[in-house]
Order: sequence, then C-alpha cells, then structure tokens
Amino acid sequence: MSFEVYNTLSRRKEVFRPIEPGTVRMYNCGPTVYSRAHIGNFRAFLFADLLRRWLEHSGYRVLQVMNITDVGHLTDELAGVGEDRIEAAARREGLNPWKIAEGYAQMFLKDLAVLGIQPAMVYPRASAHVPEMVEIIEGLIQKGHAYQVAGNVYFNVRSFPRYGQLSGNRIDETEAGARVAIREEKRDPADFALWKSDPNHLMKWATSFGPDGFPGWHIECSAMARKHLGDRIDIHTGGEDNVFPHHECEIAQTESFTGEAFSTYWMHSKFLQVDGGKMSKSLGNTYSVDDVLARGFSARALRFALLRGHYRQPLNYTFEVQKDAASALETLDDMVARLKRIEVGANDSSGAGSAGLEEVLRAREEFQTAMDDDLNVSRALPALFGLRSAVLEGRLSRAAAQQALALVKQADRVLGVLDSTDQDIGERIQARIDERELARKTRDFKRADQIRDELLADGIALEDTPKGVVWRRRS
Ligand SMILES: [Zn+2]
Repeated sequence: MSFEVYNTLSRRKEVFRPIEPGTVRMYNCGPTVYSRAHIGNFRAFLFADLLRRWLEHSGYRVLQVMNITDVGHLTDELAGVGEDRIEAAARREGLNPWKIAEGYAQMFLKDLAVLGIQPAMVYPRASAHVPEMVEIIEGLIQKGHAYQVAGNVYFNVRSFPRYGQLSGNRIDETEAGARVAIREEKRDPADFALWKSDPNHLMKWATSFGPDGFPGWHIECSAMARKHLGDRIDIHTGGEDNVFPHHECEIAQTESFTGEAFSTYWMHSKFLQVDGGKMSKSLGNTYSVDDVLARGFSARALRFALLRGHYRQPLNYTFEVQKDAASALETLDDMVARLKRIEVGANDSSGAGSAGLEEVLRAREEFQTAMDDDLNVSRALPALFGLRSAVLEGRLSRAAAQQALALVKQADRVLGVLDSTDQDIGERIQARIDERELARKTRDFKRADQIRDELLADGIALEDTPKGVVWRRRS
C-alpha cells in the first residue's frame, strides 16, 4: 500500500515519498484578500484539507502553511500589468487597503472554520514578509538571475533553463501572450517583476531598490514557503490557474536562489464550474459560503458537495447538485444510526456471528485503495455507501457493525462530513475501555476495576473475550 499523487511537474502519478521520513512539508497557495472568497476558491482549499487529512491518516506529521496575499497581486497577473487588487478594492470601498485586507482575511479564516477545514500550522501574511522577499531578490541580482531598472527589479527568465517545465509553456509563447505588457525596460518581454516601484502605491516599503516599492505576487510565495518550511518542500498546491504564471515563476525564483529543487510534488485542483460555466459577477453566481447557507443547506453539505468529486475532475455546482449532496449525507447519517443500533444489540434483525464481516473489510480496503490512488474520493465513497444495503438487508452481525462503524468514523476523520453534534456514545465508552486496558497492562488492577464499576453504574457491562473487550448495554 502506497500513496500515489499526480504531479503536475512530471505529468504522471508518482509514489509519494517525503524528503524527511515521517514528515510532510506542504505549502498551499492561499487567497488574495481583496474580496470575499467564493465556493470555487474553497474547492482548492478543501482539496488541500483532504490531502492533509489523508497524509495524517497515513501516519505523517504534516507541516502545512497557507499564505494570505494582502498586497501586490495585480488585476492581470498573466500579462504582468494592472492595479494591485487590494488597492483597487480599497478605492472601490473607500477604505484603507490594510483594513480591506484584514477584513477579508478574517472572513476567510471564519469560512475555513465553518467548512470544517483543519487549521494550517500558520497563515502568513505577505505584507509581514517583505525583508524575506528582499533577501531573495538581492540574492537573485547578485547571482545574475535578476536585474534592476530604476526602482523595478525583474527576473531574467533566460537565466533559468527550466522555465516553462511546469506549465509546458515555451518562453517564446509567453512572450507573445505578454506582448501588450512589453515595457521598454525589460530585457525580455517574458521577464517578470520581483519588485515594483510606485510612489502612489499605498502599501509600500523603502528598500535597497528605492524609497517606495512593493513586491510582485510570485516572490511572496517563494519567501513565505522558505521562511516557514525551508528551502525544500514536499508538496505545493494551488488551483489550476496557479500553474502559470504563478507557480512557474515561484520555481524559477526559489531554485535560482537556493540551487535546489523547490517542491517535489506540484498538485493542482480543477476549477469549480457553476451552472455549467465559469462563475461570474454578472451572472450573480459567485456564491460565498454564506450564500449557500442562506439557502438552507448545512456547512457540511456544502463541504460534501465540493469534496465528493475527484479534485482533478471538473465539478459543476448547481443547487440541484447541492440538494443531491445533502440528501446523500442524510443517507450516510441514517446508515450510521442503524449501525449504532446493531452495535448495541438494539436491532434483532442483525446477522449472527461474524456475518458481513468480510463485506465490511472489503469496503475498508476499497476505500483505502481509492484514496491512496491520488485521493480518488469519487471511487472511495461508493465503498462506504455500498455498506448501506448490507445494513438494510440485515446482513451485518454486531461484530461486522462495529467494524463498519469504525470504518465510517475513520473515513470521516478524512472527509469531515458526518454530523459531529451527535457526540458518539460508543466512542466515549471505547475510550474508557482503552483506559482500562492500559491500567491492566500496567498492573493497576484497582484502577481497572474502578473503570469497570463506573461503566456498570452507567448501565454498560464489559465482557472479556479472546478477541478483546466487548461492551453491551444492560437492560
Ligand atoms: Zn502562491
């Protein structure tokens, strides 16, 4: 059993192997906080969350960093021109850009929590990492990979032969695309800005390049990844739109500066379509998390709708699809409730002995295999939902129901979609049993007996069997 991931860099699936055994260093390109993030953005962040949870399930310690871009992201990054999005929003809303950025950053963090996304180790702000960016830019100039013209600094793409490897773009083609943005001062039209000088920019810093400048978007991620994870990382994620120019430029900068491979794996999630097309302000379908909740759907149903398709497959979001996801979750809830009844012996239609055990173990294997195959959720979910007919048809014994519940819970630590308000009784009892087992192992029999008596007082009887301790409710 090994985890395989699709690496955009090699354009194939590869067995996942971290640089440091047991530890994964992962950087996720986060939001630019110039407006409220929409559910399309959250598809990419939920993919990162799923990846992190699966890595943890696989036994890794995951050091996860997701940046917050609060300065320097232009309205047309592809051409390298336009306004800083934060400052454009500031003008639009009549607020200062720092307030705009912090307001949307807070909103973003709240939405992450609502969607049950596990907090990253750190959410670095670009504006708080300018010295780290300057250090890299100065290093690149010294090494001949960058050059300064007036207060602007550009990366010389011809100095990095691998430029284009990630996206498959050739420099000549990117030049053609950037023709509109050709500025006389660039040596090559495909060169991109590391630092920009602009006395009118509101968020600006005095550096060795001049009195009032601000960073390019790409250098921000290179600097934040390096600061929080080191020169080399295992996984870098983003949406498919990040491949070019953003990630291509990150690779060029970081690798030219450190002389080492930046990230081993580059993983990208596909766009979310809404109503069969691209989300757009004019169609009024750039839905936020709140927009979906306001229509009566739960946050976990939204999470499920965005998660249940494979991240590299197109996903079309409509409210019909959302309704369907919500009712699929109800089906899962119902199955869990039925399994719990079989487990405690409240359902006499259950199978005898170890009936159904093999079916459950097969489902567990199918779930594991599918997830190990580049997080193939759309193949893993049928393994879980497939158990429902075994439950309804009474094919599962108590032993099998216990295993099935364990499987569903294990799967949900990765999916995060089950109703967690129903704090599970079985889980609490199991924790007490584990505590008693530990006491017995350390020969603290007094403590072990005490736990057994306490459970008995709560109406739970324990029985020691060759296969371990089982519990049942006393009538
Ligand atoms: Zn980034």
